[in-house]
Amino acid sequence: MITGKLKPFEEIYASIEKFKNILVVGCGTCVSVCLSGGDREAQILGKEIMSRKDEKCPERIVNIKTIQRQCEKDFITDFFEVPEGTDAILSLACGAGVQTVAEVFKDLPVLPALNTTFLGALDEYGLWREKCHGCGSCLLAHTGGICPIARCAKSIMNGPCGGSTNGKCEIGNGIDCAWQLIIDRLKALGRLDEYGKIFPFKDWSTDRGSGPRSMQRTANDPFQEAN
Ligand code: SF4
Ligand code: SF4
Repeated sequence: MITGKLKPFEEIYASIEKFKNILVVGCGTCVSVCLSGGDREAQILGKEIMSRKDEKCPERIVNIKTIQRQCEKDFITDFFEVPEGTDAILSLACGAGVQTVAEVFKDLPVLPALNTTFLGALDEYGLWREKCHGCGSCLLAHTGGICPIARCAKSIMNGPCGGSTNGKCEIGNGIDCAWQLIIDRLKALGRLDEYGKIFPFKDWSTDRGSGPRSMQRTANDPFQEAN
């Protein structure tokens, strides 16, 4: 899932303070699961904005809504109405959602309330960790299901780098060395021979090396890159 963190309130407020009629929009999927941008968070943020007495805008109106997925145009066009008189939309979606809403409502400023952070998973109660970098050419089959790109601080393909101590990465913060995790996992699976193979240079053209990526689904070829 995509994780996000609410921006500091002062930063959010600075972006909306000149607008009189604001629509705060939560997103009901990823950012709702990580407790950053769902309906509950939209309600709290909307109330916090309303409670701010401001000389520049003493009669501010704040409407609050949540849609299931701000990153899908159909959800926005079919299930979402912007109240008349709205000056700006404050979105609690990830960056993809903010941009999709902005593409639909071209005449309105659409402002982000979250910092989109990473593709991650819930590891422990209340703790999400980055797990995937979206490289476009997954190699988890060879690494015991642990991603060296997202989870190794140096994204090295043949690790460890020599800086790990007691299974922890040299960057500190108690972060596990991804390559130690890979070795332990391959050992447990009886597949340590995989570790002996040297990875060739990774083809980064499936990553961001060739610029922004796209994907198109067609009837004959369900998943195909679009140009
Ligand atoms: S190898 Fe690439 S696609 Fe697979 S988990 Fe890592 S970053 Fe994601
Ligand atoms: S210590 Fe491990 S996780 Fe940290 S940079 Fe080196 S190989 Fe990567």
